[in-house]
Amino acid sequence: MLLAIDESGERISPYKGGVAKCSICNSKVIAVCGIINIHHWRHEINPNCDPWQEHETEWHRSWKNEFPKDWQEIVVKENDEIHRADVKTPNGLVLELQNSSILAPIIQEREAFYKNMIWLINADSFKDNFEIYSKVNSKLDEIKNYYKQYDYSSSNWYVNSLEEELASLIPERDRLIRMVDSKESLFINYSMDLDNFDFVFSKTMSINNQHGNFTHENQHIQEIKEYKANLQLRKTDKENINKKIKLIQSFEFAKINGYEKYRYVDFKLVNASSFNKCKVVKIDSINQLFPEIVSINSELSFNSYSNRRDVLLLMNLEDDLRNCFEKCIEYNGRISNLHYLINQKTEDVKTELEKYLKEKTEKYKIEFERAKNELSNIQFRIESKATEIHTVHEEIENSNKELREQHLKEKIDKEIAAKKKLKGQYVYHWKHKRKSWDFSKNKLFLDFDTHIFQIKSNTNLVKMSKEEFIEMVKNWNR
Ligand SMILES: [Zn+2]
Repeated sequence: MLLAIDESGERISPYKGGVAKCSICNSKVIAVCGIINIHHWRHEINPNCDPWQEHETEWHRSWKNEFPKDWQEIVVKENDEIHRADVKTPNGLVLELQNSSILAPIIQEREAFYKNMIWLINADSFKDNFEIYSKVNSKLDEIKNYYKQYDYSSSNWYVNSLEEELASLIPERDRLIRMVDSKESLFINYSMDLDNFDFVFSKTMSINNQHGNFTHENQHIQEIKEYKANLQLRKTDKENINKKIKLIQSFEFAKINGYEKYRYVDFKLVNASSFNKCKVVKIDSINQLFPEIVSINSELSFNSYSNRRDVLLLMNLEDDLRNCFEKCIEYNGRISNLHYLINQKTEDVKTELEKYLKEKTEKYKIEFERAKNELSNIQFRIESKATEIHTVHEEIENSNKELREQHLKEKIDKEIAAKKKLKGQYVYHWKHKRKSWDFSKNKLFLDFDTHIFQIKSNTNLVKMSKEEFIEMVKNWNR
């Protein structure tokens, strides 16, 4: 105990060498004033004058010292019972400090005696039997998990579908780029051919490999080929006729009266079938006044003369020569006609080639322009789509930003509200419950050393600091 009664009946604190009396049993108490423990009084003989008084510890003493001396160790008398309350406030509240375990009947007995009382129980020996959860922390976890479910990413099914549409336009654009290139080069090739038309024309006519389709399909070029082949044949004919004429003209005239148109011809140059055009003259009669001239009547006769050395062959070749000249004229006519046709056809080819090149140039110019238009059209669509995607992205990001800000504000509000509402509230669970305290009707406080818990129910605790607890006791009102 911290207070004893001196000779004049005053409540006094221990002092070195002090002796005084117990406020209940009146027996002698002596002061214990060591270095370590709080100074206190101790019964010299009868240590258990108050049966409720448990063995006093430093825990008891330091708690009593939290209150004014006048409130400490107050003797309470009721009928014939006398007890010493650990702390009793001027408002009449008794604070009972309980260090060790206690039986249920004793709890009830004390509560019945003091009535207006609260318990402070030293939980030091059993606080590990508690599982305690902060209600604030549970609520904060709950709030945190609630907002975790939101997805603030900037893509969604709509953006994905736009991106797919954009991607589907790319192959078409690439195809059109190739198309523009090929049409442009065709257009350039044909227009260059037009610019160098004379050169292209001469190539077309000579090698026949320029503008294959044109050459292949053009009727005139085929005809010109035939004309040229024909021309070659006629020229050969004409050469042969000219050779024949020269040969005939190389034969000597006979200079025989009546046979002036006859020429001397070598038997070897004449075919026997031409016997009716032939005559023979005896060589030794040539210079006579009337040379001996014989007609040939058959091939047999021709052959027999041809083996003789005393005759020469005479032939009248004037008809042949005339025929040759006539043929020569005819061939010339045909040759110049072919030349004429070839020239005319060549002019036709020229006209048609020019027309062909112009048509092709125009065709590819149109196709080139059309492909360019289609390309710029699809490029416009691609740019629009990209802009749309960008805009939608921004919209989503902005709305996400707003949502995120709104959520953050909500979350902070909820957290503040939870902290306010649940401040100091804990959920607990006894691992090994001390059942005796179930029989208490009064308020129970547990000293966890660093703080105090009030037991609110079988599951709830309210936390407070030591200072808050002391203030609460000091200001207690019934
Ligand atoms: Zn006593």
